[in-house]
Amino acid sequence: MWDSKTSCTRPFTGLSVRTDGKVKVCCDNNESALDASGQIQSFRNSKLSANEIINSNMRKKLRLALASGIEDPGCSKCWELEEKGGESLRIGWQDRFNSRDNSEAMAMQPDGTIEKPNIELLELSLGNLCNFKCRMCSAQSSTTWIREAEHHGWENPAILQSLKEKSWVEGENFQEFISSALGTAKHLNFYGGEPLLIKKHYEYLKICIDKGQAANMTVAYATNLSHIPDDILEYWRHFKKVYLTVSCDGIGSHYEYIRYPGRWDVFSRNLDKLLKLQQEVPFEFSLGGTIQVLTVTRLLDMLKWYYAKMTGTGLSRIPFYGYVHTPNWLDPRILPQQLKDEAEQKVLQYLDTLLDLSETEQVMAGLLKGQLALMQEPLPLRRGQVLWSMFASRNEKMDRYRSQKLADHVPEIVPYLPKLSSYLGTGVRPETNKQALGIGVKG
Ligand code: SF4
Repeated sequence: MWDSKTSCTRPFTGLSVRTDGKVKVCCDNNESALDASGQIQSFRNSKLSANEIINSNMRKKLRLALASGIEDPGCSKCWELEEKGGESLRIGWQDRFNSRDNSEAMAMQPDGTIEKPNIELLELSLGNLCNFKCRMCSAQSSTTWIREAEHHGWENPAILQSLKEKSWVEGENFQEFISSALGTAKHLNFYGGEPLLIKKHYEYLKICIDKGQAANMTVAYATNLSHIPDDILEYWRHFKKVYLTVSCDGIGSHYEYIRYPGRWDVFSRNLDKLLKLQQEVPFEFSLGGTIQVLTVTRLLDMLKWYYAKMTGTGLSRIPFYGYVHTPNWLDPRILPQQLKDEAEQKVLQYLDTLLDLSETEQVMAGLLKGQLALMQEPLPLRRGQVLWSMFASRNEKMDRYRSQKLADHVPEIVPYLPKLSSYLGTGVRPETNKQALGIGVKG
């Protein structure tokens, strides 16, 4: 049973572990499975085996739904993107790795059970250690955010306290699990925090190298590229392939505004260093940007810069863009219509002039068009107004705390900002209605 319009290998052989130790099917699926005590599966709370994870009731139900052509709501991010013509995580992964090859791990009984569960793809966010506090991020994903979140009162103090405590990564539950899971893994994907700063990840690479498995494995990172360890090639050269997605949301001071306290000169230097390393150990490399309130009007500048920068390198000249759903006050759908239309038109016109795109670049361009189409979907008016006010309020608080100014970096947005009096009449006080608005819910 395999319906190619909805089926996906992730619920069979994939595992995503979040910065807080919670277990997910993949980084885009928003459902959670329960452990034996009825709590959400998490390495913070319980010992979990590959069998418990792969054969949870939630996964069985998901596998059966997807294999029968049903668009499970937990996978809405994939369906939304595919509907707009973009490449979803589901399609991208299958195309890239032909990941249906392992018939044993994919053999499903009528009730959705897999007899010989094998975790082949490990997506690991090994805690929230990070040296940046990007505007769209939070203390859940960055230790540098904790103090500022405390200052603004944007997170529950108990949650912030737990983020300061010893990480679940060092705990027995996870250590026991990972030492067996590394024996079956074919793909290791590291997210953060900032994975290149997280020491544990080198330990896991070394285990795979010492076991002689690395040559058959891929390693992937999402990195802010603030730091490239001197000895990194000593690890990477053992693996079949290394994939890097380098986060960048703008150029020059615009980059520094969003990815605070990152510095553009350091980023540019490290990007050049990476391009040189590429000649020693071939890795696949792409720039990863975000489509959000603070980037949409500046997309064209970034696209032009990157196209020129990558020309002649043999690597994709079009960045990979991800859509910011959370925090929802940065979701670009809330931007004034005129700004969205102008930005979209400029980008589409520019992409039309690029007649020499490779197949990969065409996929990236298609993905970007899909994200822009998503941005044009209407939001209920009142919700849009509330979120726009919320953006104004929160962004200004960040500006004051960081001694930065929106007008210096994205001035075209400023004339559209509401005065604080625009909260009056909405009946909503943005700082107190987090739950109703879904604020702080990470995708
Ligand atoms: S369809 Fe998408 S969201 Fe669902 S499991 Fe596959 S990759 Fe994840």
